[in-house]
Amino acid sequence: MSTNDLIKKITAEMEQKYGDNKTFIQTHDLKHENNTRSIQTNSTKYIGVFENVEDAIIAAKKSQEQLMELSMKKRNEIIAAMRKTSLENAEKLAIMAHEETGFGRIEDKTIKNILAAEKTPGTEDLHASTFTGDDGMTLVELAPFGVIGSITPSTNPSSTIINNGISMVAAGNSVVFNPHPSAKKVTCESISLLNKAIHDVGGPSELLTAPLNPTLESSKVIMTHEDVRILVVTGGEAVVGVAMKSGKKVIAAGPGNPPVIVDDTANIKKAANDIVRGASFDNNILCTAEKEAFVLNSVFTELRNEMVKNGAYELKRHEIEIVANEVLAKNSEGKTIYNKNYVGKSALEILKACGISAPQDCKLIIAEVTENHPFITVEMLMPVLGIVRVYTVDEAIEKAVIAENGNLHTAVMHSESVSNLTKAARALKTSIFVKNAPSFAGLGIEGEGFTTLTIATPTGEGLTSAKSFSRIRRCTLSGGFRIV
Ligand code: NAD
Repeated sequence: MSTNDLIKKITAEMEQKYGDNKTFIQTHDLKHENNTRSIQTNSTKYIGVFENVEDAIIAAKKSQEQLMELSMKKRNEIIAAMRKTSLENAEKLAIMAHEETGFGRIEDKTIKNILAAEKTPGTEDLHASTFTGDDGMTLVELAPFGVIGSITPSTNPSSTIINNGISMVAAGNSVVFNPHPSAKKVTCESISLLNKAIHDVGGPSELLTAPLNPTLESSKVIMTHEDVRILVVTGGEAVVGVAMKSGKKVIAAGPGNPPVIVDDTANIKKAANDIVRGASFDNNILCTAEKEAFVLNSVFTELRNEMVKNGAYELKRHEIEIVANEVLAKNSEGKTIYNKNYVGKSALEILKACGISAPQDCKLIIAEVTENHPFITVEMLMPVLGIVRVYTVDEAIEKAVIAENGNLHTAVMHSESVSNLTKAARALKTSIFVKNAPSFAGLGIEGEGFTTLTIATPTGEGLTSAKSFSRIRRCTLSGGFRIV
């Protein structure tokens, strides 16, 4: 069964199990009354998790040295075991992530875990190359860095550990993670499960490590420790800025604010359905999810009506201000930001808090606003999608470029015009550009290609995989070893 078929099967099973948003919210509320769906974990049982971050680094270093003693065949067995345990625990880790962070939807988190387990490339990503000629032969191979320091987000906690773990170990590295403090339990559980799987097939038992209580201080220790060779940072602007000042090589997967453009050649029914599915997936906390739309006037009404048919609730004019007042806040510098209390919450939860009633199958809140509205300019990380009416494709592209804010992260376009699609892709310059599909197609769900949960935007590696976490080494034998 292909990954996409598997994901479709699991989605159907999940929907049957948890139902629509309404059933999901009821289940979520129930957990306070009877804890039947809670997963209990004992911190002392985590494998690879240490009270002291220094110990985590020492253990990762030792395990990486042991990994270097093993064959590539054994490394492949290790990767296979990591995939297997991730698949077996995909739903359990999704439930834990949801309970701990309060973000997103269990069924979508399960899909993200499965996606990371199945579609993260392994050692096959490491291609050696050779040069031959009159002067002999030169071999180029991809080697590990050693210990990698990885700072992980609260929005995709277990799927990032699965994805980073497979990619980094496939390249021969070990990893010391600094989990987001608000997702530390599910992160430590993911690390522990993966370490156990590695150990059970004869690998080192602490290839993935973390401090039990991650803090800014433990992050600083990782960022400055001499045994940590490179930093991989997945998160918002602040952590990327701090890592960049560390003096180490940094692979930074920063924030996004992905625009979606719909022009007058698009298949509007499909575009509406795709946008609702993409923007509501895991309640919009994926950095790749559609966060604002630019729609041509001639198809605006049809698209909006189709979106409503597919589970969007359109805010009435007076409701826009009510919702904006609730879900937005100001930071200490007076800048408009999202209200943390609503990150990853469902559309129904947000509307309920605003005193607005909506159909129980509502997945996404939409609102017609102008391009300067915070629903367009702020990375909202919740299912609230501002839509701007535009009059030409050029206007749409120009406004989408501004909204994307130079993140060079992700953009989506619905159009049947190759020249419009090309023009937008060239102007937006994003690491991921999705044509005529939900944003998640760019990560390999209903789209071709491998997956990652660490899209290195500012530093330019794009969708990271084992080769991103490798050093390029060259060996030259002059005057020999050619066979012709
Ligand atoms: P966040 O920036 O709050 O946290 C990410 C990690 O950085 C956490 O481990 C956190 O503890 C740490 N951190 C935050 N500030 C720090 C500082 N000053 N010093 C050291 N460490 C610090 O992000 P989040 O809310 O968990 O995740 C959402 C953000 O991450 C969004 O902006 C989203 O776009 C981005 N993201 C990007 C990608 C990508 O692949 N490009 C993937 C996931 C999330």
